Amino acid sequence: MDEKSVLISLDRKDTYCTLEFSDNEKFELGYLEVRKNCQCAKCKPRQINEQMKIEFFEEISRLMLVKPKVEQVGNYALRFEWPSGCSSGIHSFEHLRKISESSGKKL
Ligand SMILES: [Zn+2]
Repeated sequence: MDEKSVLISLDRKDTYCTLEFSDNEKFELGYLEVRKNCQCAKCKPRQINEQMKIEFFEEISRLMLVKPKVEQVGNYALRFEWPSGCSSGIHSFEHLRKISESSGKKL
């Protein structure tokens, strides 16, 4: 894994979290963005094309926002547990960094 993708701290707020990576880059990332990009067996198949993504995002937007539980998985990923239908999504640090850069807010 690229060194810049190592997550060194996570601060959970009500609607977003703050992620800090080992290269001192910090991002604010909404839980909605994390969920939209979930790679679990339930969510991933719903992101295969633009039309499906739109429907998936609309559905999530209606469900949310509930603060998910977050648990570290080994030293490479986080597991987000949502009260609404998705609980096994493992988000690697690399994946979180990618979402942070594309949909998060750089601090
Ligand atoms: Zn999921």
